[in-house]
Amino acid sequence: MTYEKEEFLSDLTRTLALDYDVTPEEADIYQIHYAVAKLILGKLSHDIHKSRDAHNENRRACYFSAEFLVGRAVYNNLLCLGLTDTVDEVLKTFGRSIADFEEIEDAALGNGGLGRLAACFLDSAATLNLPLDGYGIRYKYGLFKQKFENGFQTEIADDWNIHGGAWSRRCEKDTVRVEFADQVVNAVPYDMPIVGYHTKNVGNLRLWQAESLTPFDFNLFNAQQYDNAVRDKNRAEDISRVLYPNDDTWEGKVLRLKQQYFFCCASITDLLKDYKKYHGDDFSQFGKYITIQLNDTHPVIAIPELVRQLTRCHGLDFEQALGICHQVFNYTNHTIMAEALEKWPCDLMRAVVPQILDIIMQINGLLSEEMRYMKLTGEEIGRLQIINDNMVHMARLAIYVSSYTNGVARIHTEILKRDALKEWYLVYPERFQNKTNGVTQRRWFALCNPELFSFVCETLGHDRVTTLLKEIKAMEPYADDDAALTRFMEIKRANKERLCAFIETKEGVSLNPDSMFDIQVKRLHEYKRQLLNAFSILYLYYGIKEGSITDFYPTTFIFGAKSAPGYRRAKGIIKFINEIANLVNNDPQTKDLLKVVFVTNYNVSYAEKLVAAADVSVQISTAGTEASGTGNMKFMINGAVTLGTLDGANVEIVEEAGAENNYIFGAKVEELSSIMQTYNPKGIYDCDEKIRRVVDTLVNGTLNDGGSGLFREIYNSLLYGAGWTRPDNYYVLGDLNSFIEARLRLNRDYQDRKAFAKKCFINMANSGKFSSDRTIRHYSTDIWKIEPVKTDW
Ligand SMILES: *Cc1c(COP(=O)(O)O)cnc(C)c1O
Repeated sequence: MTYEKEEFLSDLTRTLALDYDVTPEEADIYQIHYAVAKLILGKLSHDIHKSRDAHNENRRACYFSAEFLVGRAVYNNLLCLGLTDTVDEVLKTFGRSIADFEEIEDAALGNGGLGRLAACFLDSAATLNLPLDGYGIRYKYGLFKQKFENGFQTEIADDWNIHGGAWSRRCEKDTVRVEFADQVVNAVPYDMPIVGYHTKNVGNLRLWQAESLTPFDFNLFNAQQYDNAVRDKNRAEDISRVLYPNDDTWEGKVLRLKQQYFFCCASITDLLKDYKKYHGDDFSQFGKYITIQLNDTHPVIAIPELVRQLTRCHGLDFEQALGICHQVFNYTNHTIMAEALEKWPCDLMRAVVPQILDIIMQINGLLSEEMRYMKLTGEEIGRLQIINDNMVHMARLAIYVSSYTNGVARIHTEILKRDALKEWYLVYPERFQNKTNGVTQRRWFALCNPELFSFVCETLGHDRVTTLLKEIKAMEPYADDDAALTRFMEIKRANKERLCAFIETKEGVSLNPDSMFDIQVKRLHEYKRQLLNAFSILYLYYGIKEGSITDFYPTTFIFGAKSAPGYRRAKGIIKFINEIANLVNNDPQTKDLLKVVFVTNYNVSYAEKLVAAADVSVQISTAGTEASGTGNMKFMINGAVTLGTLDGANVEIVEEAGAENNYIFGAKVEELSSIMQTYNPKGIYDCDEKIRRVVDTLVNGTLNDGGSGLFREIYNSLLYGAGWTRPDNYYVLGDLNSFIEARLRLNRDYQDRKAFAKKCFINMANSGKFSSDRTIRHYSTDIWKIEPVKTDW
């Protein structure tokens, strides 16, 4: 986009005066941000319109997701439009700079990887000129903000829109009515343009907000019943109030189901309306023009909803409608963990969306018929049935109706086919595909690591990596070039210094940029095994103190993670790591060798700083539990080695960059199922004195959980199991020695700084596969069958 500096400054000055009655010098940063966004959106509006037409006139894909973890939009939009320098220079004329936009909140409308993937996909599709648009929920409160009080996580509501969502626009005219058994609400869309890199194609992210049909009850208000007068309004707004509200209770579950139906019903209504506008009212051709990707099971209720609308409102019969659904829908599986495969009690569905339950029962009838025809036994059919034991199995509904079901990394897809979904794979082998995840190199390289990005572009003599990350492979020979390696190391060192400064202001902890930066950042979950990392640090601590570990290179261990508010054991692990930090950082014998910091409120913007400054990317999930991981890819592109298990996309990372350039340890998936049959963590604890020493810190008073009992619970779950779970279900103690061995080997290797930098360099040079551009290209050819739009308007 071209925007002359003089014109931009005068537009900005006028906008600030009109909207806020301030001069640029008087304006606060939120006002400036809002005005910048408004001007750019204005300039974009022609491309937005043309893109919408182009998407609708051709076959288009829609990404349905309950989460979009977009993070901060401003820097990415400026980068993609080529306006970063223009805006920065203009801001500097009145004493500001774009660095001040750090104050702008992240849009954290997602929990973690799944939501961030959705955001990367929209970015990639926009850049590749592919007609892909996102549909989701405009939560008033995104993922909570995290604080620590005495080492315990506390949660604060994230009112991300308090300064008015600058990058989205309300589209009142496209409001849709959504009906539940006991409630009718309006779904009001807000559109956020998804700017492609150096192209005119703009994708759209349409997020629905729930509102009541009437602002308040006039008669009740008049009768001075103020609370009752706004009761319906509040109940309507509750639907899009919070990302994943607690669903421990019946009321919580109802709300969660309402959220899913709310955004799916509104989106399907919207798509049918668009279809009619562009293609007329022969809905039998709907599947020719629209394909919908279901991001996990949260939006699967869109399937019966499309059947409902096609049959009730557009005159198709049930079989025709289901045939169209089969053409339209595809489903991405993100987990094999039983507790995450969504099931809804039939009673609950009947209470909230009775018509949808009726349609699901009809679909289930057809499934049973088809399976009997295929000569499956009653028992086999039972395992496939969508409705079983009075529960609706959303994944089964998705697989049965969809054209394709995909996993998100090679090993994950293999596990789906062999294990988790093997009954389905036997019946429909041709429906299963793999699409290994990726991340956008615009945000996760060019934007978050501008020095390294410039170095790569200068060295290669072009900037094609921004849209063709594969070209970064041409950097590989420079791993042997002394000058290049030195420059690479200087850039990493500068990034580490910047991270130190940021952590010093945010966390009040001062770090040594000459130490090795070993980083584990991701949601806190037992399967991700932050506890394994924590135990290994204690192991090093005691080893260094007693002198059994010598020549240890100073290491900074950085953690960042949010725990679900109701996940006790995860919260206990956060407290445990904070206690370890207290112990280790304050011990004069170790404080120069070991430093531990748990950064607060890990989110997209924090991730951008961390991945650029890492030496080591810690990816240590129990083999077979992490479907893909995308954090691992961000670190790789930015030149860190992976210290990890053969799980998720780590397998492919090591395949690309070489086992000799990474640190792989631990039990493999093939081994684990038999290991776990006889696994006895108590035996390890009893025999291995060093392991016992670190585990005992949970209960022997070395580390204090403030009387909460959380540490004892972790201890018990490891050695004795808790409730229905096996002792040490994630094999922490089993992998501990192998992990320590890898860590110590890595630490020794790091002391040859050049040799280690070369490993990092080779990882960067082989990261081409992990661009979400590659993933999206494959979705578009193998699943969606869509073509790029022509942007010659
Ligand atoms: C990339 C990312 C994730 C996913 O990280 P994994 O290590 O793949 O679990 C989670 N949260 C944020 C903020 C991210 O940027």
